[in-house]
Amino acid sequence: DDRNIESIKNMIEDVVRLLQPQARMKNIDIVINCRKLDSILCDRTQIKQVLINIVKNAIEAMESPGEITIRVVSSESKVIVSIMDEGPGVSDDVLEKLGEPFFTTKKNGTGLGLLITKQILDRHHAKLTILKNAEKGSTFQLTFPK
Ligand code: ADP
Ligand code: MG
Repeated sequence: DDRNIESIKNMIEDVVRLLQPQARMKNIDIVINCRKLDSILCDRTQIKQVLINIVKNAIEAMESPGEITIRVVSSESKVIVSIMDEGPGVSDDVLEKLGEPFFTTKKNGTGLGLLITKQILDRHHAKLTILKNAEKGSTFQLTFPK
């Protein structure tokens, strides 16, 4: 792969621009909450693919209207990107099968998005955590080493 120091904010903005039409069709607002100019050493194309897979899933999980929030926080040693949706949340039996090739609950799903996501994150020594939101939906959290 092709690794460079990339602005996380810049990659998120690219991906949101790409998926905005799909979100707008469902009356979903995508809010980016990213003040700092955090950068990570990564393959830009691959990390954008990861963000596309997760934000696309968030859009597909939601009934209109609603909000998807993408938040970036960082410490000295890591950058954490959280993608929060207002969908039904990832159920426990789905969680168990997540990342299995071709596992999908969608009529036209491939079940490859999260598998590819995990593979790319492994190559970046990054971690995927899936959390249940207090109110509704789920949060997909990506933790990158700095
Ligand atoms: P696909 O999107 O083609 O179904 P993925 O690997 O991207 O494949 O996702 C696998 C499954 O994980 C989805 O079919 C869905 O059931 C579940 N899933 C993924 N993201 C979310 C989410 N944000 N909310 C609820 N369920 C989700
Ligand atoms: Mg998907």
